[in-house]
Amino acid sequence: MNILIMGPAGAGKGTMSDLIIKSYDIPHISTGDMLRENVRNNTELGQQARAYMDAGKLVPDELINAMVEKRLLEQDCQKGYLLDGFPRTLVQAKAFEEMAERIGKPVESVLALEVGFETLKDRITGRRVCPKCGAIYHVVNHPSQTEGICDSCGNELQQRRDDTVEQLKVRMDEYEAKTKPIIDYFEPKGVVTHIDASQNQDATFTQVKEALGKVA
Ligand code: AMP
Repeated sequence: MNILIMGPAGAGKGTMSDLIIKSYDIPHISTGDMLRENVRNNTELGQQARAYMDAGKLVPDELINAMVEKRLLEQDCQKGYLLDGFPRTLVQAKAFEEMAERIGKPVESVLALEVGFETLKDRITGRRVCPKCGAIYHVVNHPSQTEGICDSCGNELQQRRDDTVEQLKVRMDEYEAKTKPIIDYFEPKGVVTHIDASQNQDATFTQVKEALGKVA
């Protein structure tokens, strides 16, 4: 199953993705995570991407497109993929569509998670992540058992550098301007499902399963 999951920062893409890959044997490919790993390892791509990411700006399309194509050709994508955070611009969407067709992995489902600004603000500022295993927590909605410590691996939790109200505004503006048109672009192809992601995890995942059930 070939899936794109879309939505503004804090819409729950990471959380829904974790639930989806438990049900389907496909990898969760987050371009944000891939880029952060490149920054951590100080690769050439990481060095190029870092300044954009710190400013909450999008990394240039050509860097991202090449990174994603390489990833989709890896062995674990044989049964499909769950792409999270990509495509984020119309240029990326068109390049992706062409590339996905070319490698025989056309997108089958686009999940569009929708949440209002105030809800996003609460979620973003309370979000804590484990830099080691990638687990995601929230100080109020989903706290770890010991404050500041990951339940899964015991590592110290961190707040992402771009998880601030200021960066949220920048990212929301970019989302409105660049990403919403992508959903409109895929809409006539009949693959988009709009998900009310302001609800709790279970209610949101129920809608996701319904959407994917149509494809499976
Ligand atoms: P995320 O974790 O998805 O919020 O991504 C964090 C940051 O990585 C973004 O603010 C961008 O700077 C960069 N990024 C992730 N995915 C993309 C993409 N598809 N295109 C451009 N930049 C991206």
